[in-house]
This record gives sequence, structure tokens and C-alpha cells, in this order.
Amino acid sequence: MAYFQYDCIVVGAGGAGLMAALYASRSASTAVLSKLYPTRSHTGAAQGGIGAALGNVEEDHWEWHMYDTIKGSDYLGDQDAIEVLCREAIDVVIELEHMGLPFDRTPEGKIAQRNFGGHTRNYGEAPVKRACHAADRTGHMILQTLYQQCIKNHVTFFDEFQVLDLIVEDGVCKGCIAYEIATGEIHTFHAKAVMLATGGWGKCWSVTSNAFTLTGDGAAICLRNGIPLEDMEFYQFHPTGIYKLGILITEGVRGEGGVLRNNLGERFMERYAPTLKDLASRDVVSRAIYLEIREGRGIDGKEYVHLDATHLGREVIEKKLPEIADFVRTYLGLDPVTQPMPVQPTAHYAMGGIPTDVDARVIVDAQNTPVYGLYAAGEVACVSVHGANRLGTNSLVDLVVFGRRGGRHMAAFANEIDLQPIQDRDREKRVRDQLERLLSGTGKEKVATLRKEMQKIMMDNVSVFRTGEGLQEAVDKLRELKERYQHISVEDKGKQFNQDLMEAVELGNLLDIAEATALSALNRTESRGAHSREDYPERDDKNWLKHTLIRRQEDGSYCFDYKPVVITKFQPAERKY
Ligand SMILES: Cc1cc2nc3c(=O)[nH]c(=O)nc-3n(C[C@H](O)[C@H](O)[C@H](O)COP(=O)(O)OP(=O)(O)OC[C@H]3O[C@@H](n4cnc5c(N)ncnc54)[C@H](O)[C@@H]3O)c2cc1C
Repeated sequence: MAYFQYDCIVVGAGGAGLMAALYASRSASTAVLSKLYPTRSHTGAAQGGIGAALGNVEEDHWEWHMYDTIKGSDYLGDQDAIEVLCREAIDVVIELEHMGLPFDRTPEGKIAQRNFGGHTRNYGEAPVKRACHAADRTGHMILQTLYQQCIKNHVTFFDEFQVLDLIVEDGVCKGCIAYEIATGEIHTFHAKAVMLATGGWGKCWSVTSNAFTLTGDGAAICLRNGIPLEDMEFYQFHPTGIYKLGILITEGVRGEGGVLRNNLGERFMERYAPTLKDLASRDVVSRAIYLEIREGRGIDGKEYVHLDATHLGREVIEKKLPEIADFVRTYLGLDPVTQPMPVQPTAHYAMGGIPTDVDARVIVDAQNTPVYGLYAAGEVACVSVHGANRLGTNSLVDLVVFGRRGGRHMAAFANEIDLQPIQDRDREKRVRDQLERLLSGTGKEKVATLRKEMQKIMMDNVSVFRTGEGLQEAVDKLRELKERYQHISVEDKGKQFNQDLMEAVELGNLLDIAEATALSALNRTESRGAHSREDYPERDDKNWLKHTLIRRQEDGSYCFDYKPVVITKFQPAERKY
């Protein structure tokens, strides 16, 4: 056991965490704790691009980007935050370029841009080229660039340190408790400001594009500390995951001209979105695929459709989509140059999360009361710029825009205050006791079995289409699983690299997040963005143009509260693509 002290601590080394650490470290002592080696963070898997209205290839304006994002969010995104996102996107992409990020280029040497779903010219008229990219390895390049900058700026890294709890006392965050994976030791990190940048929770579902490590740790820790989560019912299914495997095939394929086809060879998106067709927003395309399958037009009657890129030609595929071509050849043994790819919607992205303001400060209610010293950014946070549905390329922007703002703010905050003493000296012991309980458990339940059952429940009942009945069933079954979770045992009893134990902790987090998601979805009796209720098929602005806050109470039950949507420039309107 050891004690560490910094001005600022960032939990998570993805795009959001690294950008925050880079900025915080310019004026405050800063450490990053990450359960993974930093460059293995999921940001490194982002393929298609980062959206910014640079206008390098054709005319574009941040106001158009703002409109598209608001419409994409089905009018649930907060427009003040979306304005910050779209204005600052331009400057932050240029900043990344100056840090050395190797973007693809136009013939004149500017950053190249391509089409992406929901991004349009002149308020919905036609697709616009807005996604800046480095082949289909954009996230990889962002992560490498930011990591190099952090090293240069003397950020201290604690790699393979898994954070298990926060230290929050009287509305002030004073640090966190972490488990050192290599040794099994538990350490206290004392700080003036802590940022959670722990990424998403795709592992709640069985078919997902997300890495094994995306288990919602930061969000679950907040729930357990009485901090609410916002808009948990909105979880995005990306239309094109590899059939059965869920591995993502970037929307960049459709951005470059690829199309979806059903069993009859029809380009069916023409029927669902006459203007943008295959480049409609993700919720719309995922629903269309499900409907085609339901009506018997899946390929060979099975639960997938084809993504056809064969007309793009070898050169475009090899040059602009090399990773995808490689995945498809490796995992499916087929060549995208000559054969269509079998795809189905895959659990992809959390629009909801820890509520924050535009400086990434965590807030706990509709009055925007902050938890002093606590910040969140990236996929784990909900600021809310994505509302009910995120547009492709807008997550990478979100990471760097709000990571940067949060990093600046936390350093300024840390420089203003004295380190607050930690009152409760038993916190570390409680975390240790909790791990001991898991290690000494002799029950019959296995982590892998419970995880699989949870993922099936979520896939069956809390995916693209939902019903009240199905959601209630999910809530009931998840509660049973949580009960059974009390009787798990882990096989590895050792101290070094005990992945068994950490997987058990992560399952606990996933179950909490799954429950909060199912409850929030059951509570919202309308359809909006990614939340599609078959029993309430219409959007209901009168009753539901508001954010959900779900909070866990001390007895383990949940309660709801609401927060108004900030509307500045664009009034809610019917959403057609
Ligand atoms: C396959 C794929 C492709 C994508 N493509 C795009 C795209 O082209 N454009 C786009 O805009 N978006 C894309 N996205 C979405 C986007 O990549 C993610 O939303 C984003 O990268 C999340 O970044 P993050 O910084 O929030 O977290 P992540 O990059 O997920 O990093 C999370 C970090 O938290 C750490 N961590 C987690 N829990 C703990 C803990 N308990 N203790 C310590 N550390 C912890 C991890 O070690 C890791 O460093 C894609 C996502 C996927 C899965």
C-alpha cells in the first residue's frame, strides 16, 4: 500500500484523458491512471474520422455542423454545449495537426475530408465532406500523438492501475483508490481534482464493437457514490458490425460510397431516407436493417444484410479503408473488393453518462450543482452534445474539445485551492475488504456465466427496438443476476495480474450500468433517437423533451429526476433524412 499526491489525477488514457492530462500538466502536477497500457485504449480503435467544418474540400460552416448534431441528437442535445463542440472542433483539429498527427491530405496539401452519416451542407440539403481522417486509423493516430505529447510534457503515468473507488466527502472529490494489477496492492491517490475518462460500456451487450475492457467503471463508481447518470436509455447501435462478431466496419465505407443491400439486392435505404440514403444517421439506418430482417429480407433469411463496396474499386479500398479490408479478410475470409460484407447492428456507443457542464465539471442535479474537484470527459461523460443519438466522427471531437476544456479547468481549480484533508481513513480498507470477499467467495456462480446471461438479456430486450414488457423483463432478470453475483467465486486467488478478480469487479460494474440503462429505458415512454419504443412509437416533446437523471439511493433503489434541454438556435422539428 502506498500514498500518492498530485494536483490533478486523470483516470483513463484514451483521447479524452490524454488531452485533459496534456492541458492540466501545463500548470499543475498531473498523473494519469489507466487499467490498460495507454495506447491500448479504445480510442485507438476509432477508424473513420473526426468531424470539423474546415471546409477544405467543399464549403462548410460550424453552424451547419451544429444543426446536423442537434438534428442527429433528435433535439435532445444541449445546444450551448453543441455550439462549443462545433466551433472548437475546427481549432482543435488544427491543433492536433500541429502536434504532428498525420492526417490524409488533399492534392493541395490540406487535411482531407470525407462524407459521414448525418453530416450535411446547408441544413440538410445534401451530404458534406466533414470527416478528417488518417486512412481508417484516425483514433490510433490521435492516441499516439497525444501520448507522445504527454510524455514530452512530463505527465506521470501509472499504467495498469485499476481505479476501484473515488474519495468524495461533503460534495468534494479528494482523490481515488486504485488497485495495482501487477502486485495486487491497493493505493490511495490524493488530489485536488480528479477526472474520470474511463470510456464506455459496450460489454453490457453480446454483439458489440467495443473492446473487452469497456465495462463502465467510472460511471458505475459514480452511481455507487450517489452521483446520478444522465440519459442512460440512449445507447447507440452502429449499423455495420461484422455479422455475429460485432467488430466494427466503419461508416467511412458508406462515406466513400459503399451501400447496404438486402436479400433482393435492393439498396433499401432509399426507402427509409430518400435524401441521405445510406448516409442517414445511425439510429435510422440500424432500425431500417432490423425492419428489413424482420420482413424476411435478411440475406438468406438470416439476421444480416450486405454492405457492398465492390463498385469502389481496389484502389479506393486499399488506400482509404485498408484496416477494414484487412479485418474482413482475416475474420470472414472474403475480399471486400469483389464480395459484399455481411453486417448487423452492433452495440457501439453510450450517449448518456456522468452529467457535466461545458468545462467537464461533474454536476449532480438540474440546478447544475457541481461536485467540487470532480470532472468527467469522453464517452463516460454526458455534457450533452449527442442527445439521443450521436453522429459518426463526433465522439473523437467530443474527446479532444471537452478533454481540453476539462484539463484547463481542473488545473486552474487546483491552483486556487489547498489540498483538502481526507477525513474517512477507512475507505481503503473497505475496498480491500470488498476484494477479499470476492477472493474468499466459495459460491457456485461463475463470472463468465453471469456476464453471458446479462449480455443476452440486454441484446434481447434493451437493443434497437424496445417494449415496456421486454424492458420490465430485463429489469427483473438483471436483479436476479445481481443477487446471484453475491455468490460468485474467482478461481485465481493470487496477487499478481489477477485478471479473474478484476473481471469479477468489472462484472459488478456492468450489472449496475445495465440495470440503470434498462430502468431509464423503461421509464421513458416515447421514441427518440436511439431509444425506440414499439409501444410508444412517437417522439413526445410535450412530456419528454428533457434529460433523465437516474440516481441510486442508499438502500439500493433508484429514483429519477429531470433536467431541461438547453435550446438556443434551433427549435425541435420533425426529423427526416
Ligand atoms: C471500433 C470503434 C470505432 C470507432 N470509430 C470512431 C470514429 O471513427 N469516430 C468517432 O468519433 N468515434 C469513433 N468511435 C467512438 C470513440 O472511439 C470512443 O467513443 C472514444 O474513443 C472513447 O474515448 P475515451 O477517451 O472516452 O475512452 P477510451 O479510449 O475507451 O479509454 C478509456 C480509458 O479508461 C481506462 N480505464 C477504464 N476503466 C478504468 C479503471 N477502472 N481504472 C483505470 N483506468 C480505467 C482505460 O485503461 C482507457 O485508458 C469508435 C469506437 C469503436 C469501439
